[in-house]
Amino acid sequence: MQTVPFPDARVPTRTHCLLPRQCTAIVEQRFIALALFGDDNNPMKPLNSVPLEGAVAVVTGGGRGIGLAIVRKLAGLGARVVLTGRDEALVKRIAADLTGAGRRADGLRCDVTDSHEVEVFGKHLQKTFGKVHILVNSAGIGGPSGELHRLAPADWDSILNTNLRGVYYMIRAVVPLMIDSGGGHIINISSLAGKNPLPRGVAYSASKWGLNGLSYGAAEELRGHNIRVSVVCPGSVNTEFSSHAGKSAERMLQPDDVAHAVEALVTQAPQSFMSEILLRPTQKP
Ligand code: NDP
Repeated sequence: MQTVPFPDARVPTRTHCLLPRQCTAIVEQRFIALALFGDDNNPMKPLNSVPLEGAVAVVTGGGRGIGLAIVRKLAGLGARVVLTGRDEALVKRIAADLTGAGRRADGLRCDVTDSHEVEVFGKHLQKTFGKVHILVNSAGIGGPSGELHRLAPADWDSILNTNLRGVYYMIRAVVPLMIDSGGGHIINISSLAGKNPLPRGVAYSASKWGLNGLSYGAAEELRGHNIRVSVVCPGSVNTEFSSHAGKSAERMLQPDDVAHAVEALVTQAPQSFMSEILLRPTQKP
């Protein structure tokens, strides 16, 4: 019997590889697939346009930039998306806009560096939804540019507390719900700075190297619970995150490119685990 990615969500999964010879691989599951597609053996039937129907997805840092693009992508795939950030008015407005457009979304304030706030958020998820299938940790800060020996300890703390400790807090709050849901997918938005040295951004780079290590280890711990932990490491993305001085905005990756990678992760077949995506711009920006 196949392992199911989001059993509770009753997610139908069909993976079609439209290769030159029209090779069609269909991974079928029980649940609502038959209701949606009728005869599932027919490879010419259209792909499910709402493959995440019934899934609950949490996105931290969902109010702008990469997180916002991921929120829109997951909502478009049919998930009910809970987006968070420190700017409560902003996340609530985005959720209202998405709801007005026929999607399902909720905006909640949650500062990922505050363990109490994250715990309260977890309890809210438990009470409201009882389950979570997808967690995207996108909240992050860059901190000041400069040499490590000149970095103020307070800046070190906020970078590490947001980019690394915050992910641990979220995992602590959400994983029990995922286990209760029978499985899930955690996606951590890291950076190529978590793969390479980054002079004048050492604390940021260290936070992302740490995040990669956290992700690889948590993936091993959680695979027995049918939970995949993936990490996405983009190069420079055209957001307000930093000035990206000297780089061409057009050549840079766009937020939607990262959202596209997330889509690939959450729609893969249940037996497949893409653990890491390194995302570079085609041309050097
Ligand atoms: P933005 O600055 O556009 O957005 C950052 C988001 O994080 C905001 O929504 C912000 O919301 C949220 N955030 C920051 N601190 C906290 C906190 N303590 N608690 C909750 N939310 C918080 O950045 P990007 O969208 O570009 O970056 C998203 C992720 O992608 C980050 O982890 C970043 O490291 C990573 N990344 C970015 C790249 C880039 O070039 N842009 C390249 C590679 C990786 P609010 O202020 O309302 O709390």
